[in-house]
Amino acid sequence: MISSPAVLDTCRRCGNLILKAHSEGLAVRANPQPLDPRAELGAILAGQATYDLQPLGLPRKPYLWHRHHFRIAGKREWKVVADHRCPPGPHFPPPPGPPTPVFIPFAYSCPDQPPF
Ligand SMILES: [Zn+2]
Repeated sequence: MISSPAVLDTCRRCGNLILKAHSEGLAVRANPQPLDPRAELGAILAGQATYDLQPLGLPRKPYLWHRHHFRIAGKREWKVVADHRCPPGPHFPPPPGPPTPVFIPFAYSCPDQPPF
């Protein structure tokens, strides 16, 4: 099954930013906002699929992996995003532009308050 790194694009219907990718052969359009466990449960109860956003390769690019029940039951290692759903109401999106490739920095900077 083909997987491709996620690119940042605008939704053709509502104009919001979305992550577009192929995840194990399926086309995915996901919201870029990460979810905490409570928001993930809400998204699943609303019928949305959730995805692990795993950085892979050099330079590191985000790949989306569908979170089935084995991944949900396991340890949360990556940021979790949910399927995109357009908000209700009329939309007047701007003309579409080219998608933006996303790279994740290899090393994160030091946090403001170190854990020691
Ligand atoms: Zn939309």
